[in-house]
Amino acid sequence: MSRLVMKFGGTSVATIERIKNVARHVQREVAAGHHVAVVVSAMSGKTNELVGWCKEGAALYDPREYDAVVASGEQVTSGLLAIVLQDMGIPARSWQGWQIPIKTSDAHGSARIEDIDPKGLEEGFARGEVAVIAGFQGIHIPTGRLTTLGRGGSDTSAVAIAAALKADRCDIYTDVDGVYTTDPRIVPKAKRLDRVVFEEMLEMASLGSKVLQVRSVEVAMVHKVKTFVRSSFDDPADPKPGTLICDEEDIVEQQVVSGIAYSKDEAQITLRDVADKPGIAAAIFVPLADANINVDMIIQVVSDDAKTTDLTFTVPTADYERARKILEDHKAEVGYKELAGATDVVKVSAIGIGMRSHAGVAARAFKALSDKGINIRAITTSEIKFSVLIDAEYTELAVRTLHTLYGLDKA
Ligand code: ADP
Ligand code: ASP
Ligand code: MG
Repeated sequence: MSRLVMKFGGTSVATIERIKNVARHVQREVAAGHHVAVVVSAMSGKTNELVGWCKEGAALYDPREYDAVVASGEQVTSGLLAIVLQDMGIPARSWQGWQIPIKTSDAHGSARIEDIDPKGLEEGFARGEVAVIAGFQGIHIPTGRLTTLGRGGSDTSAVAIAAALKADRCDIYTDVDGVYTTDPRIVPKAKRLDRVVFEEMLEMASLGSKVLQVRSVEVAMVHKVKTFVRSSFDDPADPKPGTLICDEEDIVEQQVVSGIAYSKDEAQITLRDVADKPGIAAAIFVPLADANINVDMIIQVVSDDAKTTDLTFTVPTADYERARKILEDHKAEVGYKELAGATDVVKVSAIGIGMRSHAGVAARAFKALSDKGINIRAITTSEIKFSVLIDAEYTELAVRTLHTLYGLDKA
């Protein structure tokens, strides 16, 4: 019998009524003769509430207890879906991460899945049961502690379970009917893509398109899991296929740019009048790296006298205050005159494997953005993407401008 993993995100299980709708999607696949494992997220808003409670409890909370708290949202929905399925006459049971077990590292709050033993789930299939699995959570076996996989982690649970079960397909059901050329909530002209290449999806996810967790795309790519993104709001009796994440060879007509992403999770730091001499970059970036702060975009501007330079770079918003403090503490070694910063900035990126074979793709964007009066604070480029850092107030205008520029608007 073929095996299928179905994942339902927070909005898809937000109420008992929606959980009943999810159960109807499951019922269809069971009736079609599949062995089904369903992965569920917490009800929408729940994880945020749980995270908020931890922060209220103590500013410096124990990350192991944070995981104990935030993993509970998925425990509730997995049990509820099993109850609803059973009521429809479909044998089902819930599985918590530790019961399977889904073995992870001990990086609490952002643990990585190391191994999944599919035996228990397979025995359940043999008994004719649907496995309803709590997403987002696992266990670190040596310490016996619960872990969670980072925000959006249920996507990764689903794809990793599909890989462990050697499932024929992994369907990620969400509140949009597939992957779009950009976030359809801010650009109504965004187009749904029938297919998107793994590498592009990876970049889109890491540059801010939160439709899939980055790690889930990595796991799908490495284990060749046939993954679709589709809507749980479709009529369960008449589902649409959604978007397939696939290999480059499977794309018929490749665009130069396939998608535009944006991320507000970026803050800018500028060091003015830094002495322009060897060793300065190390003096700045080594302490930040030691503190596990990821530096992203970097630009250096040499002054007229060639003795000093201004250095601008970005860090994740969550690390902004920490990064400033570290640089202030290292002021003497680095020798800068002024430290400036901004958090009201956004990184807008264009992604497409077609950029490998086309020159001047980014240059067109710089012109289009300047025509709209949008000032670019920093730029980074790589083989299949480029990003610009701009003022946050221009986010929508910039995303829409690039979306139109690269011919992505729907007719
Ligand atoms: P779930 O709770 O189902 O995991 P998420 O909120 O994590 O859902 O992800 C779905 C959301 O991702 C959509 O509602 C949409 O606003 C957003 N999104 C951002 N970029 C894209 C994109 N390129 N295509 C589709 N959705 C996107
Ligand atoms: N509930 C978790 C979150 O909100 C995991 C998920 O939804 O994927 O981040
Ligand atoms: Mg999600």
